[in-house]
Amino acid sequence: MTLIADTNSLTRELAEKLRLRKAELLALLQQAAGANIAGDNPPEVLDFKDVAAEETRAVVDEAAYTHASDELAQVVMALRRVDDGTYGFCEDCGEAIDERRLRALPATPFCTACQTIHERPGTPRR
Ligand SMILES: [Zn+2]
Repeated sequence: MTLIADTNSLTRELAEKLRLRKAELLALLQQAAGANIAGDNPPEVLDFKDVAAEETRAVVDEAAYTHASDELAQVVMALRRVDDGTYGFCEDCGEAIDERRLRALPATPFCTACQTIHERPGTPRR
């Protein structure tokens, strides 16, 4: 019983963090979407350097956008696990995820061992 109570208070604490992060990411993605719409009306006169700079910025924005939407997907899935009571357990092996790991990465679906397998599969670690 004590164990379950402890897990619940940690879950509640981290769920709160996840909700805040979700709101942040949604705001960021909305901003990015707004910026893209504004980009549909480029200035009439552009020299070559400006065009290159524009394109570079677009690539950077797109990478940041993709990263934010990936993270949002992870956060949303983590919150879903909070709701169905499986939060804090590894999606692969079902073991409880280390508390320190959860505090550092509240949206992670995997324990440290399974995460290592998921990252760069087949690539030996140096
Ligand atoms: Zn695992």
